[in-house]
Amino acid sequence: MGIRFAFLRVSAIIWLLNYVSPSMGAAEMLYSSHFIIRYEGDAPEGVFYQLPEILEEAYEILSQELGSSLTNPVEVKVYRTTRSFTQSTGKPWWIAATHEGSRIEIQPIELLRKRGTLPSTLRHELTHIFVNKISQSRCPLWLNEALALHFSGEGLRLVRKYGGRVFKNPPTPEIIQETLENPKDPLSSEQAYWQAYGAFQCLLKRQEGLKRLLYELEELGRKSGTSVPEDPFWWGDLFMSCKE
Ligand SMILES: [Zn+2]
Repeated sequence: MGIRFAFLRVSAIIWLLNYVSPSMGAAEMLYSSHFIIRYEGDAPEGVFYQLPEILEEAYEILSQELGSSLTNPVEVKVYRTTRSFTQSTGKPWWIAATHEGSRIEIQPIELLRKRGTLPSTLRHELTHIFVNKISQSRCPLWLNEALALHFSGEGLRLVRKYGGRVFKNPPTPEIIQETLENPKDPLSSEQAYWQAYGAFQCLLKRQEGLKRLLYELEELGRKSGTSVPEDPFWWGDLFMSCKE
């Protein structure tokens, strides 16, 4: 099922103020309907001030596509340098962004803007927050990443780069999980994303589309408190079902 990224004009009310925190030095803050955006230091002119609109547009699309909304505002922290991003998050330099709970942390926006990946990076991280809410954080990591690739449009880029064929020797979910959790280098990490996305494509075929899959995720969330089934989305024979 293709997703239509229709352009939505979001008339978010935005407040801007300068904020000085005694412990962290000067920071610039932007507020919109669903986001609190913080820039480490004095924000440069330009793209930082477009973040509320980019984020609110992503929120609207995901809210519609996933049939859900978020209870709390999402905090977005924008780092001034890659070094401060890696030092603070513990992530490698080639990771564009990360999230924890309802907080997103991203690399310098100028860097992402030049690569043309700023909106897709934000949509990717925001998808995780929606999926965690829907599934009560019980969605398997590979599927959570695949959904983020789907809604950010990054999955199509990977298919263009590596192809969309079914793998002859599909990796185990444990290998994928380990690579996604502890990425060692950009190439193996990107290929793990691609493999997760491939499994997701098979799952969509088997599940009769995204709607059914979202229902399964909600069901998983409703059963929170019980243990997550070992392989709730049948990675084991997903690739086989894709060949049929
Ligand atoms: Zn992700």
